Amino acid sequence: MFVDISEILNKKNAKLSFDISEYISTNDYKPNINEFLSPVKVEGTVVNINKEFRLTAKGTVMVLINCDRCLKNIEYTLNFDIDEIYANTGGCGEIEVFDGSIIDISSAVKKNIIFSLPMKVVCKEDCKGLCPVCGKNLNEGDCSCDTSYINPSFESLRSLFKFDEEV
Ligand SMILES: [Zn+2]
Ligand SMILES: [Zn+2]
Repeated sequence: MFVDISEILNKKNAKLSFDISEYISTNDYKPNINEFLSPVKVEGTVVNINKEFRLTAKGTVMVLINCDRCLKNIEYTLNFDIDEIYANTGGCGEIEVFDGSIIDISSAVKKNIIFSLPMKVVCKEDCKGLCPVCGKNLNEGDCSCDTSYINPSFESLRSLFKFDEEV
């Protein structure tokens, strides 16, 4: 994803607005994201601050990710922010470098999409998850497995969950 900043390249304090909508490949994002359902939309500005360029933007994209309990695909809208400084003079440290008058924001987009992913998403609040024995999706009905036996080492975990439910 590219932003052409030629019109502010040599104008100190000049500001440029941009608006990009582009499909990106999912391969780079596996296993976190299964699929992108919409183009990635990024809207923001670039300001020329004495030969450094501060790019701030808001982005959004709809993705398919797995339910944390039953692994079903869920549509989820990710919203992310970008705040990055670019320099084409061979900046150092935290500054991203670019050539000519085109800034490639792909790595900033990727970084912030990954960062915006929620730790856990469930398809519904009371998702029953998968049977620990046969793997059946228990939202689609019960299986005939005997799950009354609980591995003693999970006993403490189980009481934690119970405690959670009561709160
Ligand atoms: Zn689920
Ligand atoms: Zn089962």
